Amino acid sequence: MKAVAVIPSKREIRLVQQDEPELSTPSDVKLRMIDVGICGTDREIAAFQYGTPPTGSDYLVIGHESLGEVIEVGPAVTRVKIGDLVVPMVRRPCPHDYCVACRADRQDFCFTGDFQERGIQEKHGFMAQFVVDDEKYMNPAPKEMRDVAVLVEPLTIAEKGLTQVWQVQHRLPWSCPVTPGKAAPHCHRALVLGAGPVGLLGAMALMNNDFDTYVYSKEPAPNPKSQLLESIGAHYISSEKLAPEMLPQHIGNIDLVYEATGASSLSFEMMKYLGTNSIFVFTGVPGRKGPIEVDTDLVMRNLVLKNQVVFGTVNAGRDSFENSIRDLNIFFARWPVAVKSLITGRFPIEAHRDLLLGRPEGIKNVISLS
Ligand SMILES: [Zn+2]
Ligand SMILES: [Zn+2]
Repeated sequence: MKAVAVIPSKREIRLVQQDEPELSTPSDVKLRMIDVGICGTDREIAAFQYGTPPTGSDYLVIGHESLGEVIEVGPAVTRVKIGDLVVPMVRRPCPHDYCVACRADRQDFCFTGDFQERGIQEKHGFMAQFVVDDEKYMNPAPKEMRDVAVLVEPLTIAEKGLTQVWQVQHRLPWSCPVTPGKAAPHCHRALVLGAGPVGLLGAMALMNNDFDTYVYSKEPAPNPKSQLLESIGAHYISSEKLAPEMLPQHIGNIDLVYEATGASSLSFEMMKYLGTNSIFVFTGVPGRKGPIEVDTDLVMRNLVLKNQVVFGTVNAGRDSFENSIRDLNIFFARWPVAVKSLITGRFPIEAHRDLLLGRPEGIKNVISLS
């Protein structure tokens, strides 16, 4: 079968021929892959910034945002059946007895860093015609989501972030006055930094929770992303139009910031304008550049005097995948055109080079495998 692989030792990226994987335990499931999404992580692996082949292999099959169809199941499999659509999880637990997170199936909170990630770290990924894995990493998705379910994995970032927002904000009276037909956070204002796929999916998750949602990004409006956001009722603000210090005046008390740019200087600048009792969620992984100047007195004063919380979040557990499948299905019913327009291109596997190495274009590009 065909797969897309990087060979870090030769700094090569190309199609490889592999034997089709076979079931090896009673709880294994075999998938025919349908769609694999491409994101910044894949582009960074293709630029050899990271990505580690499995032990004994000189190459790593990439791809971690995926959708497959079950074509074979082991005798002990109960969670999925042949014909089901499934979205596989990415991270696999570390082997250590003392890692209480991995031993509790919460490898997204692994303490040791010795986890593996399919398509990223020491395990082949999903940009291949067939995949085999244990059923515990498979999440079934409704059939009507076939065209968009490749967005489930990138949406898990917002889902895990929001689960933690509820947990943290539970420490204070954050609930809004009960209003019929409105979700609990309807009186809060959320600001998303960045209008890439993570930011746009985050904005949809926030809108679905009735946050008054603003997305802050570079490009002048109108543009396809600003139009998509307006169509779901969110507000787009171009940083060319409005400087960060103007945002509180424009938005009001900023209750939640969902960072989806990986730009640390903008993010730390924004921390100065966080509202009272607010929460700031970091999801981006910036490259290491030179140090920048930050007004640490102001940030620290605000953190204390305004009861603020700042946290980072990475990867996702099964609950976030299940929430993501549930919510993407809701988004798709509410905003079918907007959700479909997140996927700006579908390409054959042979197009992998341009997609991974060329100039990033569109919102989410997908390799279709069947
Ligand atoms: Zn990704
Ligand atoms: Zn662990």
